Amino acid sequence: MNDVEDVDTLRALLDAEEAGENRTPVKTVIESRIEKFAEEDEEPDTDELDLAEMSAADVGNAVQDIDDGDVLRELIDREEDGENRDSVKSLIQGRIDSVEGEEEQDLEPDVPPEEKHPDLDHPTADKRHVRALEDGSFGDMWVYCETQAGDLVDVSREMLGKAREMMDGYNETYEDEENVVAVLVGDDVAGLAEDCVAYGADVVVYHEDDRLDRFKHKPYAEVVCDMARWGADPGESNPEPADWRDYDEPRYVLFPATNNGRDLSAQVQAELDSGLASDCSGLYIEDAVISNPVKTGGSNRTFERVLHMKRPDFSGFEYSTILCLDNPGREFHPQGASVIPGSFDVPDPDPEREGEVVERDVDLDDEWFRVEVTEYDQLEGGVDLTGHDVIVAMGRGIGDDPTRGMELALDLANCFEDADVGVSRGIVTGSYQFDGHVEQYTAEERQIGETGQVVEPDLYVAAGISGAIQHKVGMDESDTIVAVNTDPEADIREFSDYFVEGDLFEVLPRLIDALEGGEIDMEALADGGDSR
Ligand code: FAD
Repeated sequence: MNDVEDVDTLRALLDAEEAGENRTPVKTVIESRIEKFAEEDEEPDTDELDLAEMSAADVGNAVQDIDDGDVLRELIDREEDGENRDSVKSLIQGRIDSVEGEEEQDLEPDVPPEEKHPDLDHPTADKRHVRALEDGSFGDMWVYCETQAGDLVDVSREMLGKAREMMDGYNETYEDEENVVAVLVGDDVAGLAEDCVAYGADVVVYHEDDRLDRFKHKPYAEVVCDMARWGADPGESNPEPADWRDYDEPRYVLFPATNNGRDLSAQVQAELDSGLASDCSGLYIEDAVISNPVKTGGSNRTFERVLHMKRPDFSGFEYSTILCLDNPGREFHPQGASVIPGSFDVPDPDPEREGEVVERDVDLDDEWFRVEVTEYDQLEGGVDLTGHDVIVAMGRGIGDDPTRGMELALDLANCFEDADVGVSRGIVTGSYQFDGHVEQYTAEERQIGETGQVVEPDLYVAAGISGAIQHKVGMDESDTIVAVNTDPEADIREFSDYFVEGDLFEVLPRLIDALEGGEIDMEALADGGDSR
């Protein structure tokens, strides 16, 4: 459908659909294209506009289709001769400014906030702006490789594989030779460089220090920014230029969308004065033709080598593609994304691959270690939810009392011999405050679904879970699904064997009582038996 622009053809297709399957989503798509191209075809006839009969909002909407300044000025004259409403005249004038202003717009480079407002004790005052890098040169795709317990975490391998695939395509398309650069920061990480190369890196840049044994926001961000700025040109903070690269800053950078990766990515991209598309699940590089008042002054311009960063919005019901484009006079590089773990496959490692390993020496300032980790718990391996008879899974329906909600899940699980507790991603990414004794049950390692674990128990109890497709694929092979939800229209109803419409804070205690008192036999129910 994306190739069809002719309105008559589209109308014929609409008729055919109506006469045939008559599917609403299909008709909506066709109608929206008809609307789009019909509008483009038809010049609005301003003689037909009866301003006196129109509200200011109607006039505002109508003038959005008029691009001719003279026609718009004539409308102002007509308004002056008629109702002479200031609001209407200013709306039309706004349209004139936007139509004509775009062409003549003076695209001044952005002025940093601390320069614009020197009188303010501005929080960004100590930022080292890289805008000084006018006409900076950019190259390579950098991948921040998170490690844990002395190994790369899976998402690091996934990103290296994806980066390799993208940069192979990039080099072919643009006849270039840009690299995948793996970044390792931590205590004793140099030994992982070989792994990074095997998974797709051409170059590995690392910095190790025993004070970096676990993730700390400030020093990690400082080290990664230092590496990114350690460019071709010697500068104040960079007296020694790098001899393995000839560009000022990375062209692209990927971070894992893990807790630490999210934390790091936001700080690094802000420090480098660029942008970040967070929690992406799709990436590709392509040229993009863009028309935008800020980026291009309103005219079409082709931006080359743009990283297209697809991310889910509205709980995954819609995907947005984020582009990080330069402004005139201000460069936004590296183009950065954080990547949802599990979005890409882990590639097969190639132990024969060769790469360059570079150590970056950075003086770590004691000030960066102001936050001291005084205590921590080490989890013993991940949680395996597969293979249980029963899984009790909780979703955002626990919102009214998150700790109580998880307590109920544990109590319910305790009613069975072989049961465990899982959660939807809504819980993992939510900002609920849990009391310590239940918090461990809400971690990512217990997430069920597309980017979590796939379980097939005899009995799956889903309480306060809407049944998003990404959750469904992790549990719909369960033998018996019992859903508890206040919303009778919740999607999960469609693939549940039993749907209890109700508040989990009321239903689960009754279920627990009934199980404990022997009133119902859920296991018999899971086996297809009768329940009372
Ligand atoms: P919501 O969708 O907010 O649903 C809460 C439900 O609780 C609602 O149906 C509501 O009616 C009900 N409710 C509210 N109060 C009560 C109450 N008191 N009692 C009973 N019911 C109540 N999600 C996963 O789960 N696993 C994944 O692996 C996963 N991977 C993803 C990967 C990608 C790329 C994307 C885009 C999304 C992914 N998601 C995943 C997220 C998924 O799209 C949903 O956002 C998520 O599953 C929603 O979680 P939820 O059902 O707990 O919350």
